[in-house]
Amino acid sequence: MRTTVDAVIHEIRDALGDAGVLTGPALAERTTSDWSEADAALPGALVLPRTPAEVAAALRILHTHHCAVVVQGGLTGLAGGANPRPGEVALSLTRLDRIEALDAIGGTAVVQAGVTLERLQSAAEETGWFFPLDLGARGSCQLGGNAATNAGGNRVLRFGMMRNLVLGLEVALPDGTLLTMLDRVIKNNAGFDLKHLFIGTEGTLGVVTRLSLQLVPRPLHQPTALCAVPDFASALALLRDSKSRLPGLTAFELMWSDFFEASCRAQRKASPFGQAHPLYVLIEGFAASEEVGNASIEHLLEHAFDRGLVTDAVVAQSGSQAGQLWAYREGVSELLSVCKPLAAFDVSVATTRMDELVTQLRACLTQAFPSQQHLFFGHLGDGNLHLISGNFAGHDDVVRAEEMVYAIVGEFQGSISAEHGIGTVKRPFLHHSRTPEELRLMQQLKGWLDPRNILNPGRVLPELDRA
Ligand code: FAD
Ligand code: ZN
Repeated sequence: MRTTVDAVIHEIRDALGDAGVLTGPALAERTTSDWSEADAALPGALVLPRTPAEVAAALRILHTHHCAVVVQGGLTGLAGGANPRPGEVALSLTRLDRIEALDAIGGTAVVQAGVTLERLQSAAEETGWFFPLDLGARGSCQLGGNAATNAGGNRVLRFGMMRNLVLGLEVALPDGTLLTMLDRVIKNNAGFDLKHLFIGTEGTLGVVTRLSLQLVPRPLHQPTALCAVPDFASALALLRDSKSRLPGLTAFELMWSDFFEASCRAQRKASPFGQAHPLYVLIEGFAASEEVGNASIEHLLEHAFDRGLVTDAVVAQSGSQAGQLWAYREGVSELLSVCKPLAAFDVSVATTRMDELVTQLRACLTQAFPSQQHLFFGHLGDGNLHLISGNFAGHDDVVRAEEMVYAIVGEFQGSISAEHGIGTVKRPFLHHSRTPEELRLMQQLKGWLDPRNILNPGRVLPELDRA
């Protein structure tokens, strides 16, 4: 049973009011695709609910009419999952933008799904707390999107991924049932912990409408250093030493020289070092005071220089200098813009095998695509490797590069997506990282929660028929 999108829009407009649905020229002016280069159609309408109840009401109508809907957060995703496919309606969480509660005693926050990561970070800091999830897209990505993709980012080493920071969720199911599970405690073993069904499943099982989140005390000082490192073995030894000598270690970001130099060029920023080095590592910690922080990072670096693990280093003397050092790593945004058409990879492999993987990937890619850039960087502490390859001549070459990289990652028993998710871009390659039994169970769960296959169809899992 199918109804036209027009009839559905009419009903949703009745339920949400005129401001709740955009169509026609007003819709054409809005960006409706994410940061990936995956195909994106103009949706039949953009639904903009203001409350969780309105999200549920819109889904109920879409479910009744068997109408496919794509969920959109801040549209910073890199996997194409939020891009509308022909005939779909888009549902954006942007207007659910209230921080509902910030408990300055207990260190928790309750937010609506459309609050951006950066807004929560700032609000938490104003009350002496800190929301430790952090990624380059912080200004636009939404907390609902962060939960849907189980975002990782720069401080996973210490605080885990988004999943570890979510205490509770509210979710609208595809049939419009609103499931409120806004726990504020870490401990709750009362039956199934259902929130995990919706974290990292990229909007295929439900729409996140509100989140209850764990905060941590605001650090009093964040010692930060950029180090030049002679080889990968030294980077691994430095990671081990950093864990033991800098107990508050929060980030250990590795950049190969090709990435570092491209990032400098893209930002027109000079390297702080007099000469080029094979690898660069950005280290950040949390400390109880400036004195303690500086002493521990200096002590760490002294030891590392003595052992030859570090050949040069710059230690930030202020918060703004720390920001300058982070900018080398955050050149990713500029590189994603200038390397198009590109393939952006986000894989994970046992930390000790990362260098071997990089060597093999670089050799194969350079042979097949000698005039393209292949830029490697990653969160070494988590075994998470990123690679930006581009500018390709066209889409066929992007696909060839993807096939090549994912086959090699499969041979290394790595994951084809450490943090960005599968969306549509990596969907054809999911079998490299998941067994047929795992895929079947995922499909069964999807079929059970969304029997009409209306929510984010064609993302993550192999295609299901719509009932
Ligand atoms: P969108 O892009 O809007 O959507 C992403 C997926 O989640 C889609 O499938 C969408 O349907 C679904 N979705 C969105 N909101 C909801 C909701 N409320 N309920 C259900 N489903 C929903 N990611 C990392 O993990 N680590 C990084 O370090 C990192 N760095 C990045 C740096 C840059 C410069 C950029 C552009 C991106 C980066 N990303 C990173 C990827 C991206 O920012 C994250 O995946 C982010 O969590 C996506 O949030 P969003 O609100 O933009 O989601
Ligand atoms: Zn990352």
